[in-house]
Amino acid sequence: MANTYQCSNGTRLEKTVIDQLIKKAKAKKYQFFLEEHDYIFCEDCKRNDCKPVDLSHTISVDEAQKTSKSELAFDIHNIRFRGRDCHKKLDKLNTQFNWAKVDTI
Ligand SMILES: [Zn+2]
Repeated sequence: MANTYQCSNGTRLEKTVIDQLIKKAKAKKYQFFLEEHDYIFCEDCKRNDCKPVDLSHTISVDEAQKTSKSELAFDIHNIRFRGRDCHKKLDKLNTQFNWAKVDTI
């Protein structure tokens, strides 16, 4: 039996499907962001020197899967461009994550 994770609506998705959807969501995010801004920068601090910039999940994929909200893993609103420093800060925050503050769409 393959690894599956639940979404908020009760659907279960295989991990391989989730991974593919994450890839697609990241590609979409990249495209939309470039169309809007022409270049990539850290969305958290908006500084040009917050580098290197990566696509990072606000709510981690692991967290999304564990809490049966797997759809957040491939929700482009949960994926942001973050420089390394901001990414590190976020990872620290995630250990004491407050779900009440999360806006889901
Ligand atoms: Zn930053």
